Amino acid sequence: MSMATGNKKTRIIAIASGKGGTGKTTVAVNLAMTATVPVRLLDCDVEEPNCHLFVKPVIHKKSDVCVLVPEVDESLCNVCGECADFCRFGAIVSLKTKPLVFPDLCHGCGGCFHVCSREAIREVPYEVGVIESGMCGKNSQILFAQGRLNVGRAKSPPIIRQLKRELPGQSDPPARQGIITIIDAPPGTSCPFVSAVSGCDLVLLVTEPTPFGLHDMKLAVESLKQLALPVGAVINRVAGGSEIITQYCQSEKIPVYLEIPDDRRIAEAYSCGRIVTDAVADSKGLFERLWAAIP
Ligand code: SF4
Ligand code: SF4
Repeated sequence: MSMATGNKKTRIIAIASGKGGTGKTTVAVNLAMTATVPVRLLDCDVEEPNCHLFVKPVIHKKSDVCVLVPEVDESLCNVCGECADFCRFGAIVSLKTKPLVFPDLCHGCGGCFHVCSREAIREVPYEVGVIESGMCGKNSQILFAQGRLNVGRAKSPPIIRQLKRELPGQSDPPARQGIITIIDAPPGTSCPFVSAVSGCDLVLLVTEPTPFGLHDMKLAVESLKQLALPVGAVINRVAGGSEIITQYCQSEKIPVYLEIPDDRRIAEAYSCGRIVTDAVADSKGLFERLWAAIP
């Protein structure tokens, strides 16, 4: 039986989808749980991380994620408005008053600091989320980490970037030997998706054999073409046929690595927060096949 092996070329696999609800997390979690080499599972869906509901990690470490945003010292500011004129994101606004800062719009370019001739602007940390890391799996063999966006914040990419930078095990070079990283990416094709998939060796797009599934997959594929990242497909909930996706994949030269049947037992396991390969014995072979297919 083919399984994950230590000599695979693919070291970082992102599991993504053009929209939510396609079974992306199911694939990420079950791929991790059926690995026969050391894996890290990173939940980069920071607006709604839910891998933890299935793998039930023991969290050992939590750290805040902050970005630097401007703060204006009113006593130094002469209300010239240069900073607001410079900011193309509307993150600092001056209406003939001390500038107002909107931290969630700030891209941290630092331009406003440089244009302020009065040195009235300084950088202050702005907390946007948290990173939690620990272990999961039957023998605590899986390194796990997830990012979580704070309520009311709108800055997922810095959390995702830090989560990927601070991969668990990164500080321990021997432990890195042969480790495969599985990233549960945010759905969609916007900035958080791009942050999660950037630098990956393979993006597995999970989709369904429906017109909606095809539409959202096409959007994701177009984004990934711009990033020049290798793509593979997993077709989930296959009942009558999957031609609508397989024909598109053929035209785009995207390999279809796995088709997951529309199985009520899989849906029930998911809705109860259970690992599919634990709850449905014959599903383990599906993910073993997926491991074998990944280059
Ligand atoms: S550039 Fe400096 S001095 Fe001018 S409005 Fe902005 S903070 Fe005030
Ligand atoms: S750091 Fe850049 S994006 Fe942020 S407020 Fe200043 S100019 Fe705007």
